Amino acid sequence: MEPFIRVNINNEDPARYELTTWQDNHIAIRAGFTGRSGGLGSGSFESFNLALHVGDDPDTVIANRKRLAEALEFSFDQWTCGEQVHSHRVALVSASDAGRGRIDRTDAFQGTDGLLTDEPGVLLTSFYADCVPLYFWDPVRSVVGLAHAGWKGTVQNIAGEMVRTMKSEYGCKEANIHAAIGPSIGACCYEVDETVMGQVRACLVPDLHLEQLDKVAEPSHTPDKSKLDLKELNRILMRKAGILPSHIECSRWCTSCHSDRFFSYRKENGVTGRMASWIGMKER
Ligand SMILES: [Zn+2]
Repeated sequence: MEPFIRVNINNEDPARYELTTWQDNHIAIRAGFTGRSGGLGSGSFESFNLALHVGDDPDTVIANRKRLAEALEFSFDQWTCGEQVHSHRVALVSASDAGRGRIDRTDAFQGTDGLLTDEPGVLLTSFYADCVPLYFWDPVRSVVGLAHAGWKGTVQNIAGEMVRTMKSEYGCKEANIHAAIGPSIGACCYEVDETVMGQVRACLVPDLHLEQLDKVAEPSHTPDKSKLDLKELNRILMRKAGILPSHIECSRWCTSCHSDRFFSYRKENGVTGRMASWIGMKER
């Protein structure tokens, strides 16, 4: 079953796909991914762009962020984000960091693609047009996290870095960690060259099995290109990091096939808005 469920049907409302399996299991958790409709933007950013770095009017982006925070029943002051650079750097977010990056990119966590917190009242967010949003939750230690994984972050194993940091900084155990892989470009629409495939093979070493490689990539009709399944590659890296297979959920949404619902960098030749992933624990 698709884990990311569209919770509001009216296109005037901020489009939200919520991780209902986690939310149904824990009253305090809020996690999900936005669609492209229900915002205030126009042109290439029509209408629910949530990122400040793509050339949209900043006031419109901030108004869109406020609309999402309000729909999630978080205060906008709790909206927290990193300045994403396709790295594997993970930041620890405390309650005193809440609000960083919500209005101005300069006070976001710099050079950071992974965010973790063990404090309620912090709304972690990150931004996407085809890259893979990863979600992490340890209900035992009450830790939640988000990671932005394009192909570069994926082959740098940001998934494994999140698990390693949850263990070392918060005392989490792999067996208790739940993970989810959100809407992103599918293998159907993601053609890559040999340079990328070389790094894909390298990130699966030392225990590279050909069956694993067959699962993540197949030859494309275009010469010297492969169709890469970034979601499946992240699932394999999560399992290598020790997360139980039954604790990993994966969305079937392809953002490029469904560019009516989602912004897609590839489908729209790089000029488009960004969706947001979010995760947070409500204050009691
Ligand atoms: Zn597709």
